[in-house]
Amino acid sequence: MHTIELRSDTLTQPTPAMRKAMAEAPVGDDVFGEDPTVNRLESLAADRTGKAAAMFVASGTMANLVAQLTHCGRGSETILGDHSHVFYYEQGGAAALGGIHPRTLPNRSDGTMAIADIAAAVRPDDVHFPRTRLILLENTHNRCGGAPLTPAYTAAVGRLAQEHGVKLHIDGARIFNASVALGVDVPALAAPADSISFCLSKGLGAPVGSVLCGSRAFIAEARRHRKVLGGGMRQAGVIAAAGIVALTEMVDRLAEDHANAKRLAEGLAEMDGVGVDPAGINTNIVYFEVTRRDMDAPALAERLKGEGVAVLAAGPRQLRAVTHYPISAGDIDDALAAFSRVLERGAQP
Ligand SMILES: *Cc1c(COP(=O)(O)O)cnc(C)c1O
Repeated sequence: MHTIELRSDTLTQPTPAMRKAMAEAPVGDDVFGEDPTVNRLESLAADRTGKAAAMFVASGTMANLVAQLTHCGRGSETILGDHSHVFYYEQGGAAALGGIHPRTLPNRSDGTMAIADIAAAVRPDDVHFPRTRLILLENTHNRCGGAPLTPAYTAAVGRLAQEHGVKLHIDGARIFNASVALGVDVPALAAPADSISFCLSKGLGAPVGSVLCGSRAFIAEARRHRKVLGGGMRQAGVIAAAGIVALTEMVDRLAEDHANAKRLAEGLAEMDGVGVDPAGINTNIVYFEVTRRDMDAPALAERLKGEGVAVLAAGPRQLRAVTHYPISAGDIDDALAAFSRVLERGAQP
């Protein structure tokens, strides 16, 4: 049976153009800086984010860790949201490997932290305190329903950071989703930040990789941290080639994923037994609740799987569906029909 795969936008398959580009990519040793395809991807990524330089890395986790290691030193502190991917899903790598202390602030439902909270969290110079070195934002915000952060908010955080001599990093795993959803280009979203990372392996559909972007000096230093983490790859052009296709051919179609996520949320909102507010869906991530008593989230996910629809149980009553290439509007209608069948049948076998 064909499964409609909605658990995550990391479950994309490379496009035929990506496979062809990978097979044909000219390559060299990237640790020597001599892989022409990696170099092309890096200059393209710098250009698309409006930064001077960029570095290809194995994953978003590595990009965020390298950014923190580069901006901060041991015994310093980062300010980040309590629902941020970096705090929640990256094993506390900055603390474990970099001696960097995380200071979490509440993420509001729109993915922001209150500006006043951030200002109050920046440490004054005092021998008792760690030194605040970095503020970290996430755009779009995964655990906050894929919420895109506006350029105005990011600029306000950027001003605050500058006033306090603190750096700003954006975990922009899905920054191109934010750009498409807001109709604002990525450089405008990234301009207030000293660095930004983004994933090629999420909705952009590439099989592997993320890119970290920033100033030339920042990226030169970041290359040392990537190397010590074991992230110096050799003929990495084979995978970077798919990243080039991702950046040149897969960005505009994200609008389709957003429309499909909205379509899914609107369909679910009409059903008894699940709850979601379609107005809160702006990009490709749909969190929804099971509201009926005879089923919890894992049970609903299990029953949907039997009907050829894969969603993620994100909590006892919360589920997540993420739209991505090549899921179509027709697939969403099929998925909604499967939801209907499962909810009508209820807990009966
Ligand atoms: C996926 C993701 C990352 C990085 O994930 P990797 O699996 O390490 O590539 C970072 N931040 C956010 C918001 C993400 O969704």
